[in-house]
Amino acid sequence: MAVNMQQSFSIYPFDPPGDVAALRAEVRAFLAAHEPKLGVPNCWVVGDPEFSSALGAAGFLGMILPKTVGGHERHPLERYVVIEELLAAGAPVGAHWIADRQTAPLILRYGSEEAKTRYLPGICKGQLYTCIGLSEPGAGSDLAAVRTTARYTLDGWRISGQKIWTSGAHMSHVMLALVRSEEGSERNAGLSQFLIPMDAPGITIRPIIDMGGDHHFNEVFFDDVLLPEWAMVGARGQGWAQATAELALERSGPERYLSSHVLMTALIDAAGPDPDLQIKGLIGELTAELWTLRQMSLSTAAKLAAGEDPMVEASMVKDLGNSFEQALPQRVQALVDCPSTRDDDLARLMRALLIAAPSFSLRGGTREIIRGIIARGLGLR
Ligand SMILES: Cc1cc2nc3c(=O)[nH]c(=O)nc-3n(C[C@H](O)[C@H](O)[C@H](O)COP(=O)(O)OP(=O)(O)OC[C@H]3O[C@@H](n4cnc5c(N)ncnc54)[C@H](O)[C@@H]3O)c2cc1C
Repeated sequence: MAVNMQQSFSIYPFDPPGDVAALRAEVRAFLAAHEPKLGVPNCWVVGDPEFSSALGAAGFLGMILPKTVGGHERHPLERYVVIEELLAAGAPVGAHWIADRQTAPLILRYGSEEAKTRYLPGICKGQLYTCIGLSEPGAGSDLAAVRTTARYTLDGWRISGQKIWTSGAHMSHVMLALVRSEEGSERNAGLSQFLIPMDAPGITIRPIIDMGGDHHFNEVFFDDVLLPEWAMVGARGQGWAQATAELALERSGPERYLSSHVLMTALIDAAGPDPDLQIKGLIGELTAELWTLRQMSLSTAAKLAAGEDPMVEASMVKDLGNSFEQALPQRVQALVDCPSTRDDDLARLMRALLIAAPSFSLRGGTREIIRGIIARGLGLR
């Protein structure tokens, strides 16, 4: 069968309004004032409430939200410039990351007036954090298998069930959860999204310690948790469409290829002005790949900002970006001798990232699922 391979990754111009150079300088000045906190590997899962608060006070959070809720009404591409600078510097942005990236735009679009008033100002200040309640035991890649239920009662909604792998649940104020609100419904029908305050009676949070010994994610249990009606986000039973739209936003940002970036800068610093030929070659290769990924990500951001739906492009950025950031520590390790006794920046970052990197292609949708989306988008399946 002949396959139509005419589709290509068209590059859109990345053209934020205003003085981008001045904006970058502003972020860099902010970062310089917080120097000791920078250089964190995989920095968008590392939370530092003090840093998030300072970032909010400087006007770098809620950038695309209306001023009426504490936002700054900037352009989405100006926001992109800011997060690119933060990630490249390895800033500890994990506390507010999910709230600023996806919960706030979702609440703005689908949330009740009560939810907007209650949550958006705190997100803009960098003081209110959220987590994503999608995965469950038995519902990871296959989210249509979600079984946590929301039962409608005279008092409000009653939530029962369990979520797993919930990043940052232990430091979040609210979870945005996908749950089954229609009894007896199956697959992707009958699901709704709810905002669940993490201090509500009936919630238990248990830590899951990762391979590196760190506590980023958790199991969360709901035992008949009572929620008011306004906690539902969007229309009853429309949770699937809303959650998948949110995933598209999550997949093409610079966080998909910059998780190991601080190791690349450490390699360049350690190599000095006259590196040996092999190191020079590796730096050249990494730079070329990074540059290409950056152009693809910038272009996808520009398409999103123009109101298009670049699902295939976003998935390509995620898959290629994850492959790059996942392989980077191994590619450095192949050329740099790093015994466990060595404790400079390069060795420390390499060890941390070698352990963290296997998860990069899992979070936000595993590689096989992403490649399935790309194949469908290209008409190959
Ligand atoms: C660091 C990290 C942070 C995370 N944070 C969150 C979070 O905050 N909130 C949240 O809800 N979840 C979170 N997750 C969960 C993550 O999104 C899921 O782990 C992921 O979607 C895979 O689900 P699973 O682990 O149940 O694997 P499974 O669904 O059991 O899949 C296991 C493997 O089987 C293969 N596979 C499965 N289905 C298919 C298919 N249809 N076609 C081809 N191959 C397939 C894939 O190789 C897949 O990797 C996080 C995960 C990680 C690693």
